[in-house]
Amino acid sequence: MEFDLIKMIRERSAARRADVSCGIGDDAALLLPPAGHELAVSIDTLVECVHFLPNTKPVDLGWKALAVNLSDLAAMGAQPAWAVLSLTLPHPDSEFVQGFVEGFLQLADRHGLALVGGDTTQGPLTISVTVHGFVPKGQGLLRSGAQVGDQLFVTGPLGDAAAALQCLDEKTPAAGTMRSKLERPQPRVEAGLLLRGLAHAVIDISDGLLADLSHICDASGVGARLHGSALPCSEALVSRFGLAQAREFALAGGDAYELCFAAAPEHAEAVAAAMHKAGCQAIHIGEVVAGSGIRVEDGQGGELVPAMRSWEHFRA
Ligand code: ADP
Ligand code: MG
Repeated sequence: MEFDLIKMIRERSAARRADVSCGIGDDAALLLPPAGHELAVSIDTLVECVHFLPNTKPVDLGWKALAVNLSDLAAMGAQPAWAVLSLTLPHPDSEFVQGFVEGFLQLADRHGLALVGGDTTQGPLTISVTVHGFVPKGQGLLRSGAQVGDQLFVTGPLGDAAAALQCLDEKTPAAGTMRSKLERPQPRVEAGLLLRGLAHAVIDISDGLLADLSHICDASGVGARLHGSALPCSEALVSRFGLAQAREFALAGGDAYELCFAAAPEHAEAVAAAMHKAGCQAIHIGEVVAGSGIRVEDGQGGELVPAMRSWEHFRA
């Protein structure tokens, strides 16, 4: 059964790249990274009931398993190239694998990424994807370059995916819009490529804006001031939950997969033009300040402190 599944995956994974000398079917893939580039490598795992609900459609799961990984490449400014896929399945469910691979390849094809190998085992439903991408040597977008005085941006509305989990059974258009953000996140690959040489520090928002931005602050040795009124919340989110709770979702909600980045104010126009070209937004949410920690201003001289907390595994 294992080999039937692998054969099916192999036959369906169409993307052919000249830099894949040997893909699925041998003991290891043989790959040719381009000269003058660094290899960006990242892995993300999805565990049933932790990262996704048991009734998630296989095709959506395949998309998302790759999307969350491409989001990490985007946040490094890397051009996606190859992926390997580890599938742990309770049963040799070929219908599941077929749907999963279809969703995975829908997204892979958009970015010219080739599935070059993987592993198929029996156990509790767990999906692990490793992606590989290229960055011209020295041009990777790190978390550590933010400078005092930089402006902070995000590439799109936040909070929808997290909020969708609170209204899964609702049939309203607003709930549907938010659910599509949860099920089909759009990794900001093009935005990441265009931020090379423009952004001082970049991260993708997977756990929540406050949690992820704090990684930029810690790595860069700076603090951040955010403007509560500038937090981007979709109409769907605000209409369903009201503005105050929408902002909580925007600050602490996970699974957003937008980029958060710091750039010098003199580059604001170039940043806006680049994000427009990439099909997303450059939403100015605050500034990098001296010190440490993140303060969210409520616009009335006070501070916005969300009751909601960002996602963290192994929380005490
Ligand atoms: P080995 O026993 O040497 O690890 P496998 O039987 O696990 O070999 O895998 C055979 C080939 O199929 C390898 O090229 C491997 O990368 C590929 N493969 C196995 N599982 C998957 C998967 N889920 N997705 C893509 N390729 C896979
Ligand atoms: Mg194996």
